[in-house]
This record gives sequence, C-alpha cells and structure tokens, in this order.
Amino acid sequence: MFDRRHSARLLAAGLLVLGLGTGMFAQSGANKAVGGDDPEFARLVKGWTTRPEFSSPLVDHLPTVAGLPSPKDILGHHIGEPKKLTYYADILKYYRALAAATPRVKIVTIGKSHEGRELVVVFVGSEDSIRNLEQYRTYLGQLADPRTITPQQAADIVGKAKPLYHLSGGLHSGEVGPSEMLMELAYRLVAEDSPIISQIRENVIVSITPVADPDGRDRNVDWYYKYGINETEGRPTGAGVPYWGKYVFHDDNRDINYSQIEMRSLLDWYFEYHPPIMHDLHQAQTLMYTFSGQAPQNPNLDPILYGELPMIANFEMSQMTKYGMPGVWTHGFVDMWSPGYLAFMSSNHNGMIRMYEIQGFSGANTQKVRLGNPNGTGANGVGASTGSSQAASTGAGGGRGSAPDASAQTAGRGNQAQREWYRPWPATGEFDWSLRNNTNYGQTGVITALQYTSQFPKIILENFYVKSRNPIETGRKEPVAGYVIPAGQRDMTRVERLVNLLRMQGIELGRTTSEVTLQEGRFPAGSFIVKRDQPYSRLAKTLLERQVYPDPNLRTYDDASWTMGLMGHTDVREIADKKILDVAVEKVNEKEIHLAGKVAGNGSVFAIAHYGSNNMITLRYRLKELKVQATEKEFSNGGVTYPAGSFIVSGDAATVRAAVEALGLTAASLPAAPSVAMHDLDLPRLAIYSLWSGQATQDVGWVRYALDKFDVPYELIYKERIKKGDLKSAYDVIVLPNQGGSGKRVVFDIEGRGQPIEYKKSETFKNLGMYGESDDVTGGMGLAGVAEFEKFVQAGGLLVTLGQASYFPAEFGLAPKLDAARTTPQFYSPGAIIDAEILAPEHPIFYGYDKKTIPVRYANGPLLTVQTGANPFEPAPPGPPPTPTGVLMRYPGGDEHVLSGLMRGANEIRNRPAIVDLPSGKGRVIVFAGNPCYRWQNFGEFNLLFNTVLNFNDIKTDAQKPAGTAAPQ
Ligand SMILES: [Zn+2]
Repeated sequence: MFDRRHSARLLAAGLLVLGLGTGMFAQSGANKAVGGDDPEFARLVKGWTTRPEFSSPLVDHLPTVAGLPSPKDILGHHIGEPKKLTYYADILKYYRALAAATPRVKIVTIGKSHEGRELVVVFVGSEDSIRNLEQYRTYLGQLADPRTITPQQAADIVGKAKPLYHLSGGLHSGEVGPSEMLMELAYRLVAEDSPIISQIRENVIVSITPVADPDGRDRNVDWYYKYGINETEGRPTGAGVPYWGKYVFHDDNRDINYSQIEMRSLLDWYFEYHPPIMHDLHQAQTLMYTFSGQAPQNPNLDPILYGELPMIANFEMSQMTKYGMPGVWTHGFVDMWSPGYLAFMSSNHNGMIRMYEIQGFSGANTQKVRLGNPNGTGANGVGASTGSSQAASTGAGGGRGSAPDASAQTAGRGNQAQREWYRPWPATGEFDWSLRNNTNYGQTGVITALQYTSQFPKIILENFYVKSRNPIETGRKEPVAGYVIPAGQRDMTRVERLVNLLRMQGIELGRTTSEVTLQEGRFPAGSFIVKRDQPYSRLAKTLLERQVYPDPNLRTYDDASWTMGLMGHTDVREIADKKILDVAVEKVNEKEIHLAGKVAGNGSVFAIAHYGSNNMITLRYRLKELKVQATEKEFSNGGVTYPAGSFIVSGDAATVRAAVEALGLTAASLPAAPSVAMHDLDLPRLAIYSLWSGQATQDVGWVRYALDKFDVPYELIYKERIKKGDLKSAYDVIVLPNQGGSGKRVVFDIEGRGQPIEYKKSETFKNLGMYGESDDVTGGMGLAGVAEFEKFVQAGGLLVTLGQASYFPAEFGLAPKLDAARTTPQFYSPGAIIDAEILAPEHPIFYGYDKKTIPVRYANGPLLTVQTGANPFEPAPPGPPPTPTGVLMRYPGGDEHVLSGLMRGANEIRNRPAIVDLPSGKGRVIVFAGNPCYRWQNFGEFNLLFNTVLNFNDIKTDAQKPAGTAAPQ
C-alpha cells in the first residue's frame, strides 16, 4: 500500500506541474506557501486520519500566511479534530475573520432562518474575482439569458467570465462533516499557492453556503455534545435529536416549491448570481459517492448535462483513486428524476446539480465501519457505517435508484464493498472512521472538482450558455409549445398560487389582453400563458406536464410525480398550437401577483362562496370574532350559485369586505340571509399530535407549516400530554399527521434506551426543547395513551388520522370496523397522482369540491377495509359488493386511473377506501389512507383536512351514505 500511495503522490505532484507547464522537479514542494506549512497541522491531521490511504496530497498540509487566520486561529482547533463540532455562530465568526483579513473573500447576507440566524453566501476567489464580483455576476446573468446577447457577444463574455461554483454544506444537520471542511477549504483557497489551488483561484469563483440549515445545525451540535460525544460502540443512545429545522429534516432537500425560508433565500440569491454548478455535500455513503445522474432521468433536461455529470464525477473518481483513496464511486445511488432536490435549482435553470455522499456520522466521534468483503458477503455498508446517525434514515427504503427487485448485492449501493463497473475500487473490511477522514475525502473531492472546472472554465461557461440557449429553440420546435392557465377558473386563489410558484422559479408568464383562440380552445382575456421559447422552458414543462415514468422497473429516490396543475387542482392546458408563441400578452413582471377577491352588492349579510380555496379556513379565523355559518346546500342569488359550504356572515361589513378581498375570495352582500339549511362554524380547539422520532416530527412539521401559513391556530402535543389524560376537556379535534409507519410505531415510537433521553432547553443546550419538551423522548405513549385516545373519541372528540398514522385507529381498535392492510412488495408508488372518487358529495369534508373524481397523491398509506357486518361464511350476493357505511371517498385503482408518475400494481388499490368516517361513542374517527397535506405540494387536497377541522361538530351520520347502498359505478 505504501508503494502505491507513494507513486500516487509523485504522480499528483507531476500533474500539478504539468498544469503549470513548468519543469517537473522545479516545482517539488509546490504545495508549500511562502510562510511554510503548519507542522502541527500535518502532525495532528495525520494522527486523526485513521489510515494513510484515507488522506491525499491535497489536504495533508496547511500553509500559514502571516495575518491570515486559519480555522484554528479562530476556533481553537484544526478542522477534523475528534469530538469537536462547530456551532453556526462560530462558523460565521470564522468566515468573517477570514473576509476581514483578505481581499480574496466576500460575504453577502441572503436572509434569515426560521429561528433568526443570518443566512450568508461566502465568495472566495482571486483579488480580481472578488473586486469585480459585480462584473462577473453580470456576465453569468447574460449567459443565462441568451436573448440579451448575440452569439458573438456570448463568445466574448465566455472569454472574459469565470464560472461560479457553488458549494453547500449542512443541508442535513446530522451530516456534520462538510460544514467543518468548507472552512478549511475556504482558507486553503485563499492561502495556498500550489499550482492546483492557484489555478482554481484564478479561473473559478467559489461560493459557499456554510450551513444550509443553520437552525438544525445548532440543534444537532447541542444533541451531539449532550449525548453523542459519550457514545461508544457498546453503549449507543441511538435516539436522534427530534428536530433539525423548525419544520423539516431531510425534506429541505425535497422542498420542490421552496417553502422553507432557508431554501427560498438561496433560490432568490440564485437569480442574482446564476452559478452554473451547484454542489450539495451530504454524507451517508461508503466511502464517497459522487452523483452522476443515473436513470430514471428527466428527459426534458439538456442532453449536454447528461454528458457533463459523469464527466466530472469520473474525473473525481479517477483522481482520488490515483491518490490512493479507496471507495470512491459514482452512478449506483441517486437518479435524475425528481427536480425537487436543493441543488437541482441549478439544473432546473440550465446549470448543473452535483452531489456527494461522504462516509460520516452525525457526530464527531471516531467509529467502527464494517464492510463486507469484495465477494459480496458480509455487512451492508450503509447500515454499518451510519450507525446511530440520523443520516441512516436517508437510506430507508433501500436500493433507490436501482432495480426494485434486485438483491442487495446487485442493487447499486447494496453491498458497497463489492466491485462494480461504477465502483472499481471499493473499500472493504473493518476500520475506524474519523471526522478528519470525512474532511479529507470531502475536501479532496471538492478540490478535484474545482481543479476540473479551473482546467476547463470556458467549456463550463460555454455549456451553460448553450444549455440556456437551446431551450429557446427547442421550445419552438417541440410538440408542446406552451401552457395556458385559463382565466375565469372558479377559484382564482389557486391560479394565483400556481402563477407565483412559477414566477418564483424564474419562469416567464404573460397575461392575455383579449380572448385567444388556439386549436385547444378559446381562452378568455386575463388568462396566463407560458410560452416555451424562453430559457426556463424546460423547467416549465417539467413542472406542468404529466410525468411519464420511463421504466416501471426502476426505483426513484424521491417522488415520481409532481404535476402542479393536478397537485393544486388547477386547470392548466398543454398547448401544441404554435400560435401560442405569438399570442399578444402583457408580461407578468411582478415576482408575486395578487388576484384580489370580489364583493358584490352592499347589503349587510355576506355570502362567501366556497369554491375550494384554501383561504376559506384563513377567512374563518380572521373573522373569529364574528358568527360564521356554513350553508349545507347550494343556493343562488343574483345569478350566482353558492355551493354547499359557503359562508354566511353578518356584522362588521368593513372587516369582512377587507378580508374577502385580501384573500382573493368571491362574495356578495345580500339584504338578508338565504333560506337554506346552515350550521355554525365553531372554531375547534385543535391539537396536532406528534411522535418524537425525527422522521415523524418532519411529517408533522409539514402539516404545522400548512396550518401556520393559513393562520390556523393549534396546539402541538406529544405523548406527555396524552398520558395526562382528560383530552376531551382540552381539545375538540386531534389530528395525527402521516407518521410512524404502523400502529405499533405510533403507540411505542422510539424504543427505550435503558436511560431517559431528554429533550429540554438548558443553559448549555439552548437549542434543545424547542417545539416541545420531554423528559424522555423514548417509549411512546404506550397502551395507556391508546386508552386516552379511546376516551377522547368516546366522549365526543374527533380523531383524524392521515396516511400511515391511519394504521393506528385500525390496529388498536379505535375504529373497530376498520382494517388496515399493506400492499404487496411488488406494489410501488412513489407518490403517483391518481384518481379518487367522491362517494358522499354532501359530506362537509367535500365542501368546495365540485367534481366527482379528483386527483390525489398516493404513496404508501394503508389499504383500508370497512367491515360490512355480513357473515363471512355465506356466499357473497351477486353484483358489485356494497360500499360499506362510512366510506366517503375511494380509489378506483387500476392503471387507467394513474394520472401522473408511477404506480406499479395499481390494481391492488382497486376500490379501496380513501377516506372513512366512522362514528364511535359520542365522537368519531376520520381516517385518510392518503396524506392530504403532503409537504407544501398537494394544495388541492388541503381542504379535505381544513373542512374536517372547520366542520368538526357538524358532521352527522346522516350525511353519510345509508348502509348497504351500492356505490355509484
Ligand atoms: Zn443529506
């Protein structure tokens, strides 16, 4: 091994030299800076690196420069010291000190996190790059929109511009290494005068997100110092910190609509700087995986990109292998299907997403890694290597991006000790892994990627320009020429949301000034038009079209579909007629549009039409001082039909008027209340129940986020509150968001650890105990908690369960007639959008829904059955089986009802209940098989939950279908 490594170093040195075109031996010691290298750094880092091959000639030294603070000068230790993690404030302190000491660094503030931490981007480059950053930024903006320049100008700009390479660490708070490493990288890029680093500094501008989720970073570091630092192999606590960010864990990397402020801030920054490459640094795989965009791939993206991705990944793999570092691989892990990953903002806008997964842990302890042997037997690398880390949960589901039925040995990342064509030199056996190893791999990889970029800066820029220019051309030629979002939709708030989500992503829209006739139909003035002859035409198509999954035998890492019109129940028309490209429009220049509501008439009683806007619940809470009623049937007034569920409000006309207009709703003021059956819309005491496991707090977090955005107050409760009992005296409605995965998991949550694991704020750990406190997050509510839920329902409470939480009432008898089964292993539906059929349209849960069949998202909820009470030993009567009492909505199932994405085995859900309403005692249980509040995404379904909340004490059994009634066929 020594020989191999020794020759690798010589080779590396030789290449450095060739890069400069000077004599091979003249440059020996080329890595040394004027001030010389820090001998302590070299000694300590060598000691912290658990095997010589886990380092490289790029990172085994650190130059000292007088007046330039190294990380140690500010933090007190070198990067990668065991048992040392850095809080966000100290990370910022370091970058600020560095920026103050050199003209090669500049910091810009881009926003504030949910908890108020400053969000920054750090630029590192030559003095010229930083001094003229504004000019370089302008160049990239011009290349990003080729309509602003001629091809000759583009060539000139490519000659003068420099690629901006963006690096991001700390997106996932348990993946701690890269945020440490990036500080050393920034210093090295400033301080070192080796040929590789000098060339990078001269030819590339590096920008850095030090920590993408700083709130989560601090909470995870607190947790590490409280528990993780004392973990040893024999005595792991195993429980992760319950929260990273305020709302989400890993889903900040699945936030397709940029709901979280940290992600949105970066997107806004993107449009100022247009980095052609964005690179997220994760840690999970063994020893380092570099993303190259494997199948299934989004075919809308420029084919050039699919050449670029493996180009750089293969360069990294070959260079690092040459340096003697085992276990660097590509291809077999993450696919290129979903456009929702954070760095995808670059690919979505004609740049390049890049991604690493580096071996690591959620803390800074050195831990054992056990890999199988190269013959394919032995431990699975992932499970063994992530240990108790939160990062392990990224791997849940296994074998993503690979053939679903393949064995672990062949399923890509299955046995990471096995040689594959994309993993020519796997790491094998057993060894210790340290934080410094993680730093060495990550930093060597990133420097290598930057080396590549600095070697071919003009290629990167030219590709960025061509990838930005091509969609304007292809958009004119491809079968889909554009999209129309017609004006005059019943609920225009969903049109407003869709337009704003597209605008947020930089997609250009226009508004028609008169009626437009295309082959596809006539569209009224005021319709929104997306023309495909624009730079972001590919993204528009990706977001608006129905996803046609290329190969049902391939798994995908995240969702298979996201079609925005279907998700938002918004009418969007795909247009083939090329005339759309020439339709006269007023360009929508605003970053956000607002379509004001309308109030007709000037009477004293207001009727607000329930057209299905999610803002209806917001209106109810804004008018909380007023009496608000809901009509139970539709009625007409002044030629306008008000559907069932419309609000009737009297008093304080000015407040009502202002609220309706601000919320984009449709109302009329009438001389008197209509004569139609109504009920009071009382405001419920609403509780949202959460388990303590991190995956659960995230799924609950998405529901909290939606409720917060729509101004719905609620109390977030945990097992601690359940165990106190007497729930009915405190709450009218308890919602269990999708969580747990089984009834047992909902009841017992995190397994006991033999010691209490508290989640509480203290002087030392200020970031713990947020969004809830616990003396012991393990153990779950237990059977005593189940009994309290049972009492709650019996006493008249409304229990609502979503998605996987719906196993709970079925398995623990809270809804005795309900059974919940699972699909077969062959079934696969990573978030397909499918039809659901409403069976009880008069039920308040469907207020605002005007169609019998609606699109819903389907993932992996339970297969529900409601027992009909028929004798199972008697032959079934002829004809279709009766729809049991209480089934409000069902899935027709079958391939013909898959609207977008992939559902393999779609017959398994045929005619299965989607929503069930079962009275129990004085209360009731409403069970959703799907998740009507999935991330910030399936807005069209949100009202199923909101209606349930608002009408909590108005749902009557007679609103359900009578027993035994045949379902409509
Ligand atoms: Zn990650």
